[in-house]
Amino acid sequence: MIDLFGKKAKINEQRETNKKFLMYEFVIVYIALFSFLVLIFAAAYAVQSIVWQTAMITIAVAELIVACAFGIKIEAETGFYECGKCGHRHVPTYSSVLWAPHMGRTRYMRCPNCEEKSWQKKRLTEKED
Ligand SMILES: [Zn+2]
Repeated sequence: MIDLFGKKAKINEQRETNKKFLMYEFVIVYIALFSFLVLIFAAAYAVQSIVWQTAMITIAVAELIVACAFGIKIEAETGFYECGKCGHRHVPTYSSVLWAPHMGRTRYMRCPNCEEKSWQKKRLTEKED
């Protein structure tokens, strides 16, 4: 009985930690997207100098690439992906998350267990959700 509660507490802790990391990812990527758009529109409409326009667009693209790279890293390493075919939950590699087509957090990837490709949903815990 005590062990069961310990296990339950551990699963809850894992869920809360993963939820927190996915929230960090959301904040990082959306702030970067917002500042990207502000810089691009400012470069297009508010600035006349080609030197400043080039600098602003370069900074906008660079910060978005860095934020997305970190966002994908957080996305890949936080929680698990559940195979749509066999239900196996796994932590995918960075490159499979990077190149997988996705809708929100659901990604089309190959399962390491059954080797089939399917739409895999993000799960916060390894066993239950
Ligand atoms: Zn599978």
